[in-house]
Amino acid sequence: MQMTRKIKQHFFKKLYSLMTDFFLMYFREGNEPEETTQITYRELLVQVCRCSNVLQKQGIQKGDRVAIYMPMIPELVVAMLACARLGALHSIVFAGFSAESLCERILDSSCSLLITTDAFYRGEKLVNLKELADEALDKCREKGFQVRCCIVVKHLGRAELGTGDSPSQSPPIKRPCPDVQISWNQGVDLWWHELMQEAEDECEPEWCDAEDPLFILYTSGSTGKPKGVVHTVGGYMLYVATTFKYVFDFHAEDVFWCTADIGWITGHSYVTYGPLANGATSVLFEGIPTYPDVSRLWSIVDKYKVTKFYTAPTAIRLLMKFGDEPVTRHSRASLQVLGTVGEPINPEAWLWYHQVVGAQRCSIVDTFWQTETGGHMLTPLPGATPMKPGSATFPFFGVAPAILNESGEELEGEAEGYLVFKQPWPGIMRTVYGNHERFEATYFKKFPGYYVTGDGCRRDQDGYYWITGRIDDMLNVSGHLLSTAEVESALVEHEAIAEAAVVGHPHPVKGECLYCFVTLCDGYTFSPTLTEELKKQIREKIGPIATPDYIQNAPGLPKTRSGKIMRRVLRKIAQNDHDLGDTSTVADPTVICQLFNHRCLTIQ
Ligand code: AMP
Repeated sequence: MQMTRKIKQHFFKKLYSLMTDFFLMYFREGNEPEETTQITYRELLVQVCRCSNVLQKQGIQKGDRVAIYMPMIPELVVAMLACARLGALHSIVFAGFSAESLCERILDSSCSLLITTDAFYRGEKLVNLKELADEALDKCREKGFQVRCCIVVKHLGRAELGTGDSPSQSPPIKRPCPDVQISWNQGVDLWWHELMQEAEDECEPEWCDAEDPLFILYTSGSTGKPKGVVHTVGGYMLYVATTFKYVFDFHAEDVFWCTADIGWITGHSYVTYGPLANGATSVLFEGIPTYPDVSRLWSIVDKYKVTKFYTAPTAIRLLMKFGDEPVTRHSRASLQVLGTVGEPINPEAWLWYHQVVGAQRCSIVDTFWQTETGGHMLTPLPGATPMKPGSATFPFFGVAPAILNESGEELEGEAEGYLVFKQPWPGIMRTVYGNHERFEATYFKKFPGYYVTGDGCRRDQDGYYWITGRIDDMLNVSGHLLSTAEVESALVEHEAIAEAAVVGHPHPVKGECLYCFVTLCDGYTFSPTLTEELKKQIREKIGPIATPDYIQNAPGLPKTRSGKIMRRVLRKIAQNDHDLGDTSTVADPTVICQLFNHRCLTIQ
């Protein structure tokens, strides 16, 4: 009996190994078009096992938290899956976030270890990531917390490693490599390639319960403090595998490409877990849509014969500005399904995506979902759902949406109100890391018995759902959520600022941008130097994505008698719209006039 089991095990192991030897997992495309590699499932497995052994050797066990701060390179996928193999929770911090944001996230979940990279290029821009990681770890130390070690992938300096030593067979960077100064902290820093070289190729996975946590991913919270969204092994994986299969109508011969960074939920679900759980072949892209030129995306589509493509409205709007030729210059004949995510897509961008990119033959899947939902919630199914430009159409299987009014009553038929979900689905987040009360208060308190998305929504006479945008104090800049509170607190940390209020303002590419009103402390004057300092402060505290487009001097802010800032009024002032609606609750109406007069002093 024992013998037969052993033979069977051996047989399946061999078969699996043979299959995975040839099965392509990623076409990796670096920042430069020549930096390409192919990675098979077998190669990934070996790298993941090695990395798991490395982490285990550094003391990582089931339940530990590991922070990952890396660009879109194969080692990022290896690191996250190695954590999953050990039952450790990865907490990936987008490489565009500042040292301060990284520190805050490491501290919040007391990560034992950090994995990062020497440096990388984003288009023409060089990012010295190790410097930011060092700064974050210094800040952690100042607050009395020390990670066990920091593992550093040599990415920009890959050329020095020579071929063969290069992890994941990534070729050396072709671009002239500047002499990036990497500071090295003895006793803390360890080179990834040195550890990986010594590690064994096999590592038994740690068995986990379906409800064990898989990872933490931070998302902006309306109080300003990011929330560590926790997803689980069973529910999340099942949900992303299923939504990937049906929403992209996945078939084995497909080449899938999601352009999102793994630092966001879209990358977690549809670059890593969803495609991998389906055995898909995907593109892993490190670069940006406009480098070396604005036709980069379409040249990649042709290069790898991409069949299913998934991006954000902000990227579509950005590329639309350059006209049709950079798109039509490439064949795009392989494309079948085009997806969008991150924010409401305006019909103009939808039509361009459909008519120009998809040459009117591709289905558009406008997928509405959130970090918290794990996977798609409202979405068309390609070829099956009649499309309406700008509508995320209908719920995915098992999803039960409702639209509520302010009193929490469910509205029937044509209606507009709060978008909620009436029953849980496998991929729903399970808690906010370390703060279950906050989880309950944020999502379930306003309307007991419902999951509250924080989005407004309209249902038309045909039952189609149309997301109308956030109805809480959140902003959606280029598809990324930011809370007004976190930007405001970064502003008031400047010595010149007494008070600040931030609102969203329409932007042709980003969808929404930040418009900040600042009240100065006595003795300070409003000037371009001050606004530059404020922008720098925000970049340092949060990251470049939060850089404001407008900063306006506000000697006073419109407030209710109870002292609440009236953002609705500020949004109108930012747009120079004098139709303010009811202003009877403004404590000091003269402030409004003053702010309209000061608009001309706004600095972009
Ligand atoms: P995040 O958790 O950062 O992925 O952001 C989720 C938020 O992005 C949602 O609550 C919506 O406000 C917005 N969003 C995402 N996808 C869509 C979509 N297809 N249509 C409209 N809004 C979307």
